Amino acid sequence: MGEKNMERLDELIRILSTPAMRTRHSKAMSTRTCKICDGPALRFRDAVSSFEYRVSAICQDCQDKYLYAADRRSNQTMPPRPL
Ligand SMILES: [Zn+2]
Repeated sequence: MGEKNMERLDELIRILSTPAMRTRHSKAMSTRTCKICDGPALRFRDAVSSFEYRVSAICQDCQDKYLYAADRRSNQTMPPRPL
């Protein structure tokens, strides 16, 4: 894991440790949305990403942004989206 990924991970941990996150997590799970960006979390690239959502309620986009950053870019099937 590179330094850049560590920074992203730090950012993610900060986001996830806010008090509102617990509420967002259960809401996201029940509405199939992402607890970070509030976007729909209906499509996942593979079983790993889908599993990650079931555990963390984080959509594919945010998984890419925070969890996989550079590592899986070559693997990416979806075009990058502007934020
Ligand atoms: Zn998201």
